[in-house]
Amino acid sequence: MVYKDYGKTGKKVSAIGFGGMRFVKDGDSYDYDKCAEVVRTANRLGVNYFDTAPFYNEDQSELIFGHALKEMPGEYYISSKSGDKDGSELRKRLETSLTRLGVEKINFYHIWCILDIEDYKSRMVKGGAYEAALKAKEEGLIEHIVFSTHCNGDEIETIVNNGGFEGMTIGYNILNAQFRGKGLRAAYEKGLGVATMNPLGGGIIPEKADFFDFLRGEKDKTVVDAALRFNCSHKEISTVLAGMGTIEQVIQNTEIGRVISPFDENKLKEINDRMSSSMDKLCTGCRYCEYCPQEIPVSKHMLSYNYSILGNSEATMNEFKWHWGIDPKEAEKCIECGICESKCTQHLPIIGRLKDIAAWTEQK
Ligand code: SF4
Ligand code: SF4
Repeated sequence: MVYKDYGKTGKKVSAIGFGGMRFVKDGDSYDYDKCAEVVRTANRLGVNYFDTAPFYNEDQSELIFGHALKEMPGEYYISSKSGDKDGSELRKRLETSLTRLGVEKINFYHIWCILDIEDYKSRMVKGGAYEAALKAKEEGLIEHIVFSTHCNGDEIETIVNNGGFEGMTIGYNILNAQFRGKGLRAAYEKGLGVATMNPLGGGIIPEKADFFDFLRGEKDKTVVDAALRFNCSHKEISTVLAGMGTIEQVIQNTEIGRVISPFDENKLKEINDRMSSSMDKLCTGCRYCEYCPQEIPVSKHMLSYNYSILGNSEATMNEFKWHWGIDPKEAEKCIECGICESKCTQHLPIIGRLKDIAAWTEQK
C-alpha cells in the first residue's frame, strides 16, 4: 500500500481509505463478526484510514467499527463526524461516538457536511460546534479537527484560508473535478490533508460503465479501478475513501493503492476533453445555482436528473428518496424566474428538467 502525508499532521495515511457506509446486511440485520472481518482484512492489506459517522448503515457503522477495533491487526486512524451546530450537541455526539467506537480519542473529527458559507459561519460562532471541538481537542478526545463539505471550489478556498482546520473531506470525482479542484488545491497549498469520498460519482460511473469506459487506461481492469486511480493520481489528495462492504471489494480496492500509476498528461487531457464534450449535459454538483427564491434545492434535483441523462429515470427518483431524502414534488414550486439557469456553469435547462421531474412524480 502506498502511504501519503495527511497535510502537516505528521501522519501517513493509506492511499485508499475505508469508507464505512457500505456494510452489507445478512437478512434483516448486520452480522458484526462478518462486517468486522471486512474492516480487519482491509487493515491487513494496508488500509490505515477508517471513516465512519453517526447514522451510516442505519446508525450501526460506528458500532461495527467498535467491534472490529477490539482486534485490529495493525495501526489505524479513525475518523468520525458531527453535523451539529450547537457546541453542547457536538459534545454529546462526540462522547457517544467515543463510547461506540471504544476508543479514547478520535484521530480525525469532522465538522460534518458544511453546506455553504452561511452554514460554515453557524458552526464557528461562540458556543458553536467548532469551539466545542477545540475544547475536546485540548482534552485529548480529538486529535485533529477537520471538516467535510459540499461547497464549491471558491467556498472551500474561503474556509481553508480562514484557518482552524487540519484537513478536509470532500466528494471528488471526474464529474465535479472542475468545480472542486480549486478548493482541493487551496487545501493542499495551506498544508491540509485531504480525504475524498464519492470517487464513483454516487454510483453513476460503475452503473454506466460503457459510457465511462474512456476513463480506463491499459492497466485498469474496470472503470471503478480507473475512477479510483483518477483520484489517487492527485498529489493534493491524501486518501481516497472507497465504500467497502465485502472482502472482494476490499481486495479490489486495495489493489489500486498498492502501486499507484498516475494518469499521464495525455490521458488526463483525453479525460478533460471528454468532460467538456460528452458530459456537457450533466450536472457537476458545483452548486452555483443555489439560493432559489422558492427554496428548491436545485443542485440535488439536477444531480438526481443525471441518472435520466444516462438512461435511468427510475434511478433519478430513487436518488430523491434514498440519497437526498427530499420530496421531488418540490420541483412543482418552480416559478420559472430563471435565476438558477443564469448561474448554471453547465448552462443546463434546469426549468425543463424540473418539469420532467414534476411529471414523473405525477405518474407515480
Ligand atoms: S427557475 Fe425555478 S428553480 Fe430556478 S431559481 Fe427560479 S424558481 Fe428556483
Ligand atoms: S445545476 Fe448547474 S450550477 Fe447547479 S450544481 Fe448542477 S451544474 Fe452546477
